[in-house]
Amino acid sequence: MNNVSHIPSYLSAEHLGPWETYLVQIDRVEPHLSAELRPLAPLLTRPKRALIVDVPIRLDNGEVAHFEGYRVQHNLSRGPGKGGIRYHPDVTLAEVMALSAWMTVKNAVVNVPFGGAKGGVRVDPKLLSMPELERLTRRYTSEINILIGQDKDIPAPDINTNEQVMAWIMDTFSMNEGKTSMGVVTGKPISLGGSLGRKDATGRGVFVSTVEAARRLGMQIEGAKVAIQGFGNVGEASARLFANAGAKVVALQDGSGAIANPAGLDVRAVKAFRHQSGSLIGAPGAETIDADRFWRCDVDILVAAAMENQITASNAGSIKARILTEGANGPTTPEADLILQENGVTVIPDVLANAGGVTVSYFEWVQDISAFFWTEEEINARLDRIMREAFAAVWDAAQAKGVVMRTAAFVLGCERVLMAHKLRGLYP
Ligand code: NAD
Repeated sequence: MNNVSHIPSYLSAEHLGPWETYLVQIDRVEPHLSAELRPLAPLLTRPKRALIVDVPIRLDNGEVAHFEGYRVQHNLSRGPGKGGIRYHPDVTLAEVMALSAWMTVKNAVVNVPFGGAKGGVRVDPKLLSMPELERLTRRYTSEINILIGQDKDIPAPDINTNEQVMAWIMDTFSMNEGKTSMGVVTGKPISLGGSLGRKDATGRGVFVSTVEAARRLGMQIEGAKVAIQGFGNVGEASARLFANAGAKVVALQDGSGAIANPAGLDVRAVKAFRHQSGSLIGAPGAETIDADRFWRCDVDILVAAAMENQITASNAGSIKARILTEGANGPTTPEADLILQENGVTVIPDVLANAGGVTVSYFEWVQDISAFFWTEEEINARLDRIMREAFAAVWDAAQAKGVVMRTAAFVLGCERVLMAHKLRGLYP
C-alpha cells in the first residue's frame, strides 16, 4: 500500500485525468530545463489546435447514430503531426489532448521529425458491424480531412484500430484528394504501402528498452519472471519476444481478467486460445487470478500495455518488479510514480518505452514517400539502434541529473521541441 505520506492528495487518481497527469509531468520537468528554454515551457501546456467532429453514420437497421470524434495537434514545431487514432467508449477531448502531448515528447525523445497529434472516436467498436465500422471510419476521416495529410498530420493505429481501419482511412483520404496518398497514414497492410515489422514494433521497442535497463541493473532476461497487463498489439508482441528470449511470462491480464502460471505460460498457446474464445480465462496451463493478485505477482519485470491510470496509489506499493516498462501511454499516475521511486522500481517511461511503434511508422512514411521498401532485417536493425541510443541518452541524463527516467526523457524531448520553436521564432 501507499507508504509515502507526503504525497499531496491532489495528485491522486480520482483528481487527475490524463491531461492533468501530463501537466503535473511538465511541472516536474520545468525546473530541469535549461535557463534558455525554460521561459518557453508554457507552449507545452496547451495544444496547438483541437478539432471536435460529429460523425453521423447510418446503422445496418436504417437508423442514424451520431458519434463524437477528435483530432488534436499538440505541437508541430518539429514537423508534421503524428499519432494514432483510438476507438473507445471512454474517449474524451482531454484524453486525446494528453495522448497528443505525449506524442510530441515521444517523437522528440527518439528524434523522429514529427510533432505530436492524436485522434479518437467515442464509440464501442464491438457494438458495430464491419460495414458500420467502415462507414464510421470513412466519415470520421472525411471530417478530419482538413487537418491530415502526408506532410501535415499522419494518423496510425491505437486501441481498437488496426490495419483494416488504416486502409479505409488511406482510401477515403485518397478518394477526396483524387490521387492515391499512401503516406497519409501508417500501420497500413503491407500490400498498401505498410512496413514490414510495424505490427510488432511497439512490443519490440518495449522488449529492447527493458533489455537495456536489465543490463544496466545487472539482471538477466533469460529466466526473468515477467507479468504483462494488456494482451493486444503491444502486450502480445512483448510477451512473445520475452518468451523467445528465455524469460518466463508468469502472469497476463487483459479486459477479460488475469491468469498466471509460476512456471511460465505458453504465450503462443494463450494467444491461440484468446483468439478463439475472446478471453484469457480458461487458457491451457493457466490459473485464473484476481486483479489484486496480478499486481502482487512475484516478478522481476512488469509491462503495462493496456490503458492510462492503471498503476495508482492503491496498487503501486504492491508491485514487486524491479523494472516497470510502460508499453501503454500514461499507465502510471503521478502519485504512483512517487511510490515506485521510493520503492526503488526503475520505470521506463512511455515516451521512451513505447516509441518503437512511431519509429517504424516513421520508417513506413519514409518508404511510402520514396516508394522504396526495406527488408524486415533492415527495419528491425534500425529500430533496435534508435531504441538503444534513445535509452542510453535518457539513462545517462537521469544518472547525471539525479532524476528518474521519466523526468530525464521529458527534459530531452521538451528541450528538443522548445529549441525547434525558438529557432523558428514566433509568427508573425
Ligand atoms: P489493443 O486494443 O490492441 O490492446 C489493448 C489491450 O488492453 C487488450 O488486451 C485489452 O483487453 C486490454 N485492456 C483494456 N482495458 C483493460 C483494463 N482495464 N485492464 C486490463 N486490460 C485492459 O491496444 P494496443 O495497440 O496494444 O495499445 C495498448 C496501449 O499501448 C495503449 O495505451 C496505446 O496507446 C499504447 N500504444 C500502442 C501503440 C501501437 O503501436 N499499437 C504504440 C504506442 C503506444
